Amino acid sequence: MWYNGSRSRLSPARCVRAASRERDGFVMPKGIHPRKLRPVEQRFWGMVEKRGEDECWPWTGTSSGGYGNFEKRPAHRWAYEMMVGPIPIGLEPDHLCRTRICVNPKHLELVTHKENVLRGDGLTAQNASKTHCLYGHPFDPLNTYHKPVGGRGCRTCMREKNRQWRKRVAALEAKDAAES
Ligand SMILES: [Zn+2]
Ligand SMILES: [Zn+2]
Repeated sequence: MWYNGSRSRLSPARCVRAASRERDGFVMPKGIHPRKLRPVEQRFWGMVEKRGEDECWPWTGTSSGGYGNFEKRPAHRWAYEMMVGPIPIGLEPDHLCRTRICVNPKHLELVTHKENVLRGDGLTAQNASKTHCLYGHPFDPLNTYHKPVGGRGCRTCMREKNRQWRKRVAALEAKDAAES
């Protein structure tokens, strides 16, 4: 730790002198106030309420959509990349603890976007977890069709709807024929 709360007691000149020295293989450029070069990690973890190793670590900075936000990216992504490693393209960290604001990498698992959506508690997830249609017909491979706009439909219900419709058309035609 080479600059912390105590730096405020240093004069700017002494700050630069102290910072320009090489520490841990890192050379601080001259003439720039150390605060501007504070490593991104330090700023990041300064906004995390780190608790026990297995507990949730809530993000205390700004958030968007329920997720912590840091430098225009989700905070939990930062945490994962800093502590675990880069996130491969196509994967995203999913909260095993279901606490969106949590940035504990232990609570994150890399999954595909589809898996993440299915695991979530949104409407898509609720619908995907349904095993039967509204009328109790099973969503098994034989009875299920996939709508072009997304989502599943029940074949039994579709057949029933078609039957009702044909019946109505036939009735109308019969009425027309009777009247003419
Ligand atoms: Zn958590
Ligand atoms: Zn049905």
